[in-house]
Amino acid sequence: MITGTLYIIPTPIGNLEDITLRAIRILKEVDLVLCENTSVTQRLFKEYDINTPTSIFYAQTGIKNIEKSLALLEEGKSIALVSDAGTPTISDPGVLLVDRVRNELPDVAVVALPGASALITALASSGISSSNFTFYGFMPHKKGRETLFKTIKESEMTSVFYESVHRIEKTLESLVEILDQPAVEAGEKRRVVVARELTKIYEEIVRGSAKEVKEHFNNHKDHLRGEFVVIIEGCK
Ligand code: SAM
Repeated sequence: MITGTLYIIPTPIGNLEDITLRAIRILKEVDLVLCENTSVTQRLFKEYDINTPTSIFYAQTGIKNIEKSLALLEEGKSIALVSDAGTPTISDPGVLLVDRVRNELPDVAVVALPGASALITALASSGISSSNFTFYGFMPHKKGRETLFKTIKESEMTSVFYESVHRIEKTLESLVEILDQPAVEAGEKRRVVVARELTKIYEEIVRGSAKEVKEHFNNHKDHLRGEFVVIIEGCK
């Protein structure tokens, strides 16, 4: 029986060298690469001389080409799923495809490769314990946001979330309000780390109390650019 394979392939989060030899080989060997944004993926392909056909898997309107992908896998074709950066399915599209393949096509192999992810890179660089941590993905914009900050305040585990350039200042303000005030009164400072532009030229790891981190960005407005991971130490 011919069986297809779905590969989940992490790609660099900045520095183009952060891709494994296995990932490059598989991207060259598969029948099709499903990607988010053709131009982003083509930049990587050019760097590593990869000429495999690509198909868009995700658009603003949602997941595309899922039925076609399932049909190809069932025919025995091999497909690699990539996102614009990091590990697909981690705050990125792809979970639905993996879930459907596992539920509906038990003969199709699903092979996830280890590799770059902003979450793990930020934690590794932070100096904050990752023995126990909770990852929240992106903070909700409105509904549930305050509740989540309160949960983080009360959590004994390290908390990690992704934040966009549009909301990082607002998030730091909320952290100052929620974490610093009672904590300082109680004499215990919760450490906050903002990891910015990981693996890129302007990589920056800012550590301190929420207030200190906020002050850093107030004093360096030009650093309010790029991509951010926020880490908050658990309460003791
Ligand atoms: N799947 C990706 C991963 O494994 O890291 C995450 C994709 S998510 C759509 C994009 C978010 O990840 C960004 O908004 C930012 O919060 C974080 N991120 C991605 N690359 C980053 C980088 N180089 N430095 C800091 N944060 C990054």
